[in-house]
Amino acid sequence: MAKATYIAIVSSPGYTHLVPIIEFSKRLINHRPNFHVTCIVPSLGPPPESSKAYLQTLPSNIDTILLPPVNKDQLPQGVHPVFLIQVTTMRSLPSIHEVLKSLCSKAPLTALVVDVFAYKAAEFAKEFNALSYFYFPSSAMTLSLLIHGPNLDKEVSGEFKDLTEPIKFPGCVPFMGVDLPDPAQNRSSEIYKHFLERAKAIGTADGIVINTFLEMEPGAIRALEEFGNGKIRLYPVGPITQKGSRNEVDESDKCLRWLDKQPPCSVLYVSFGSGGTLSQQQINELAWGLELSGQRFLWVLRAPNNSASAAYLQAAKEDPLQFLPSRFLERTKEKGLVVPSWAPQVQILSHNSVGGFLTHCGWNSTLESVQEGVPLITWPLFAEQRMNAVMLTDGLNVALRPKFNEDGIAEKEEIAKVIKCLMEEEEGAGMRERMRNLKYCAANALKDGSSTRTLSQLANHWESLSEI
Ligand code: UDP
Repeated sequence: MAKATYIAIVSSPGYTHLVPIIEFSKRLINHRPNFHVTCIVPSLGPPPESSKAYLQTLPSNIDTILLPPVNKDQLPQGVHPVFLIQVTTMRSLPSIHEVLKSLCSKAPLTALVVDVFAYKAAEFAKEFNALSYFYFPSSAMTLSLLIHGPNLDKEVSGEFKDLTEPIKFPGCVPFMGVDLPDPAQNRSSEIYKHFLERAKAIGTADGIVINTFLEMEPGAIRALEEFGNGKIRLYPVGPITQKGSRNEVDESDKCLRWLDKQPPCSVLYVSFGSGGTLSQQQINELAWGLELSGQRFLWVLRAPNNSASAAYLQAAKEDPLQFLPSRFLERTKEKGLVVPSWAPQVQILSHNSVGGFLTHCGWNSTLESVQEGVPLITWPLFAEQRMNAVMLTDGLNVALRPKFNEDGIAEKEEIAKVIKCLMEEEEGAGMRERMRNLKYCAANALKDGSSTRTLSQLANHWESLSEI
């Protein structure tokens, strides 16, 4: 029996940062049962039921340690969720250090893997004689932004959104400054400073584990590997996604039972991630657009908010269905189903009645759709979602992006047009075909292809160190 290898992982708060890093741990353990992973989880408050239920399903060689929540009253109010996540991980540093100290007093630690928002924790690795790694839960294109961010900062004066020429990183599809993530949209802000610090820190680790795969982003991955003569050791191990373990029994029954009654490939699934919200005006236009398109739809609706990321860390309590246009549900009852706030997305995407996904382009949703071969309509809201949308439309050609008017609203006619195009027309069929090809590549990468070989390499390296 091989000697045990001990790995510590630090996540950042938020369901969609916690799950991918733990799913990575599960894959690692499946690959090497002699590994033992301790996952350290900073938190803003008591974990939501969804996270608690999820953490209870872990195998015995993954331990989770929930850190004491940071004092909410001492956190800035009304700020961007990225800032809250960043501040929470920063304030949790003393507790992270304590946990690492206690772990290392029992067994030597081989590697410390930290979520990108917990970048400061990577500095503890040296003290505990461990290697340091970042876990990057998004695309190689977004990682390119972090890697090239400090140079971009030096080269450009003024705001990026005012650039008239596209930004082009090696191996990536060009994109406009307005499509940069929120932290890069205001260069005098505090979150921009943190973004630059994260960018500088990420190049200093012993490696970066990234949730993407070679066949999806060959150009960006190869360019990153070549950057600075191999300065960066990149480990693309994706797509790593959840396998549908959420406990949403009622809605799950309802959605899946309804899907069972629809023809194959006929339903557009509409969802904006774990916390994306639309304004009331945009909810109306989307409802009318869905109706006008005449297509079948399954819409996960959240109560309106003028800030798109408002519900990301804190769900609204109102019943979202009351915000639909009058008699909408009655008029569309033959064609559509609207469910409040949450639905079992992974199971929905894998249902054969689903033929398209209108998504905010969060990276997990993107990968889940790729794994099921479902083509997309991109509707990015915040974070790096606009860059993901550019990659999916201009780069991979598996998605359509509706146009938004001067007030930032997608109007009903435009929405109906892109829905019909994706679901009924030849252009959409081409996208479906390319997505199916990508699905096949994703399955291969995980079976015995690129991502599994990469994970093996990394595991071998860690194992060899723990045997010294
Ligand atoms: N999700 C879900 N049901 C919902 C909404 C979201 O299961 O109704 C899951 C989805 O499958 C994905 C995650 O929540 O795994 C959303 O992650 P993503 O990175 O796409 O977006 P974020 O929530 O970070 O904006």
